[in-house]
Amino acid sequence: MIGHLINTDVGNRGITTLYLEYRRRNFNFLKNAAKTFLNNYEHTLIVTGFPIPPTMRAETDGPPGAVALYNAVEKLGGKAEILTYPEIEGALRAFGIAFTKNPPIGDYSLLIAVETPGRAADGKYYSMNGLEIRRGTFDWAVEEAREFGIPTIGIGDGGNEAGMGKINDLVAKYVPNGERIGSVVETDELILSAVSDWGAYGLIGEAALAEEELLDVLENLDEGRILRLLWKNGIIDGVSKKVELSVDGIPERVHSKFIRLLTSVVEFKIALGD
Ligand code: CA
Repeated sequence: MIGHLINTDVGNRGITTLYLEYRRRNFNFLKNAAKTFLNNYEHTLIVTGFPIPPTMRAETDGPPGAVALYNAVEKLGGKAEILTYPEIEGALRAFGIAFTKNPPIGDYSLLIAVETPGRAADGKYYSMNGLEIRRGTFDWAVEEAREFGIPTIGIGDGGNEAGMGKINDLVAKYVPNGERIGSVVETDELILSAVSDWGAYGLIGEAALAEEELLDVLENLDEGRILRLLWKNGIIDGVSKKVELSVDGIPERVHSKFIRLLTSVVEFKIALGD
């Protein structure tokens, strides 16, 4: 149900077929990711940041989701750090978040990658429209975590993100340029969503069904404030490629209302005893 909600393609990104096929293959993808999250959150590394060619400036999708996940880990009594690009770090510093530049991967109990490029089959990195990403990436952290046997969760909305290697064949089939841009970097759990931030919020919502206090994280999440800080630091919308208060071409007010809707749905499901 929540898995469905976060895949509502309001921005016409064309994710629906990929989602429906993925859902057929892995019906409980969000439940499984929430279980992995709740069993392993003690020391979580959150990786986020997606540079958009040709300027290679980071985009607004990802950081709000990372902040929400960070708050969720802290709410549960765990400890989290964020690995991201300096301009995103600069924007989010106001939240008192702990960042890391050289994470000792073996020390973590969980890694979550939300909207960050994953290497394609040819070893390069691509944007959705097939342009090469020429900037350092963080998918090495995902691969290293897997080598250490640390659980990993990937969140993406296009097919080129770290984690999408899990459904590389579906991306090749259903995403334009999918064969070329599709990531081969896998995570144990993969959350597909219409906007990657929504995937992060959905993970928290699903986990809140078991750990009610996580509802507070969604209730207190101020996407408007996060986006204003990103805007001040020159972070661009990945679709319009402009510095504006939007994510994936969708204005801030829609995201804020989406969070309210998701929160209400989760609250109602808890009341129902689902
Ligand atoms: Ca996105």
